[in-house]
Amino acid sequence: MRTDRQESEKEGPSCRRCGTCCEKGGPALHRADRDRVESGKIPLKHLFTIRPGETVRDNVRGGLVRAESDIIKIKGRKGTWCCVFLDFREKACRIYEDRPLECRLLNCRAPEALERRYEQDRLCRKDLLFSIEGLWDLVEDHEQRCSIERLRKQLRSSSGPRAEQARGAVDFMLRYDAHVRRLVVEKGKMDPEIVDFLFGRPLSALVPGLRKTSGL
Ligand code: SF4
Repeated sequence: MRTDRQESEKEGPSCRRCGTCCEKGGPALHRADRDRVESGKIPLKHLFTIRPGETVRDNVRGGLVRAESDIIKIKGRKGTWCCVFLDFREKACRIYEDRPLECRLLNCRAPEALERRYEQDRLCRKDLLFSIEGLWDLVEDHEQRCSIERLRKQLRSSSGPRAEQARGAVDFMLRYDAHVRRLVVEKGKMDPEIVDFLFGRPLSALVPGLRKTSGL
């Protein structure tokens, strides 16, 4: 069986380390990266979750698609897409020995190895949180009350005959989302920087994009 490294090297010329790929955005994580996260080599505070139903760019086929499951990604640096682990001056990865699977497979001049694995075995929040008593229940509850599909449906209804009811439902979801984020920080004493991994990006930040992609 070929290792990921062998698979990547077989595909063609080696990486020139120009940093361009890393500047375009951090990778999504796969189950092969689970140990790197659980050991703290890739800390949770540097991750965020794209939740099922969110609109994402398909980097292999191109175009926009809806995420079918969690996509856990490495955050960008200071409001940019540039991976938080890129040492910009040196054009070097600060976690090179522990870089995620997609970074090991990526070769911009021979993308086949990454394309084959791109959608396979993505890491989910459940993989990392299921055994943490109480926390997974909270994340699951938030997912049910504030699912992207439910929010999208209510946004669509907010200009129809059920407008008032739909606007009330959207308002409830936004308030619940904000409440649960505060709760884990203030009562649970969790690092505020891991909140976007636990619950995805704030609903208030997603609403404008959801309106746009739903033609509202
Ligand atoms: S983890 Fe390292 S190799 Fe991967 S995108 Fe970030 S800086 Fe680049």
